[in-house]
Amino acid sequence: MSYAYDDQNIFARILRGEIPNRTALETAHTLAFHDIRPQADVHVLVIPKGRYVTFDHFAAEATPEEIADFHRAAAEVCRMLSIAPETGGKGYRTISNAGDHGHQEVPHYHMHILAGRPLGPMLSR
Ligand code: AMP
Repeated sequence: MSYAYDDQNIFARILRGEIPNRTALETAHTLAFHDIRPQADVHVLVIPKGRYVTFDHFAAEATPEEIADFHRAAAEVCRMLSIAPETGGKGYRTISNAGDHGHQEVPHYHMHILAGRPLGPMLSR
């Protein structure tokens, strides 16, 4: 199985600095920024800087350093935004959509972090 990465996708353009973003955190291998159409008070997207299409692509082909950096950056965002239960926050949900059934709009792997209100059931139906 090979993954076809589109260098013109919007997150690739953000990473190249061609489109502005509201950065929450940047690390060696990861960028976290606020979603342009937030679906909760907190809606941050965490993306690897590498050319990965989906979660399964990232998990299969990213280096251990990239994988650790990505998850630690996402956790740091949760701490920074005071939503992590361990630090007294009320909690959050992470989502990663992949492919057609996952309703993935942008073909660059990303994790949504949603918080700021009760988020309801995991799926609408
Ligand atoms: P997904 O459906 O999981 O691929 O989600 C893509 C997300 O990217 C959506 O929540 C969009 O609102 C968000 N998005 C698209 N363009 C931008 C942008 N330029 N800056 C920030 N978020 C964006």
